[in-house]
Amino acid sequence: MTQPAVVILLGPPGAGKGTQARMLEDDFGLIQLSTGDLLRAAVAAGTTAGKKAKEVMDAGLLVSDDIVLAVLKDRMAQDDVQNGIILDGFPRTDGQASALDGLLAAVGQRVTAAISLEVDDHAMVGRVAGRYTCAGCGEGYHDEFKTPARAGTCDKCGGTAFKRRADDNAETVRERLKAYHAQTAPLIAYYDGKGVLQRINAMGAIADIRAELGAIVGRVSA
Ligand code: AMP
Repeated sequence: MTQPAVVILLGPPGAGKGTQARMLEDDFGLIQLSTGDLLRAAVAAGTTAGKKAKEVMDAGLLVSDDIVLAVLKDRMAQDDVQNGIILDGFPRTDGQASALDGLLAAVGQRVTAAISLEVDDHAMVGRVAGRYTCAGCGEGYHDEFKTPARAGTCDKCGGTAFKRRADDNAETVRERLKAYHAQTAPLIAYYDGKGVLQRINAMGAIADIRAELGAIVGRVSA
């Protein structure tokens, strides 16, 4: 292994980036870095960055590169990222992609794979608007596609408290899709140009996508 895996998951809201990133953590011991999660934590903690980000997130728009990079750098400074990372929801702009290249180059690394989860946009609003997670362990559920085996009880940890994201409503999802196409989708060509892009069809079963992603990540972290 020449360097730890640095894997980027690209795809619109609802493509399954978070679900698959958590599975890759389990399967490969990589660490999921979700800038959405980091920003939500900053909002919940009431930090200066969180206060600035909240309104933008509620509107489904992108938080400024400065804020996103600050929370990401803090997280990347922690020890547990040394064995490799899966970036979920980052980078989302040209500026973030260049900044990531710079951060990695400073420690002699580069992006090892950027995997585009390709989905049908029309299905995304329904996927995102019905989702919720266990407040205890973060396991994901969906009103229609994935309900707990025992209603009201998490399959994974037995918890009974669940939460929904404020921005997981149909109107905001449409804004987030627009932001994705305008600002983030161009990064697919950026990583293609660097020779690290892989595309996978992410409309199928979660287990099949997990296997396909696993084959790619296995190659780059071998
Ligand atoms: P996510 O959890 O990835 O769906 O992100 C939720 C929201 O957080 C997004 O709609 C943005 O408002 C904000 N956000 C997360 N990651 C980024 C990023 N890399 N750049 C800008 N905004 C972000």
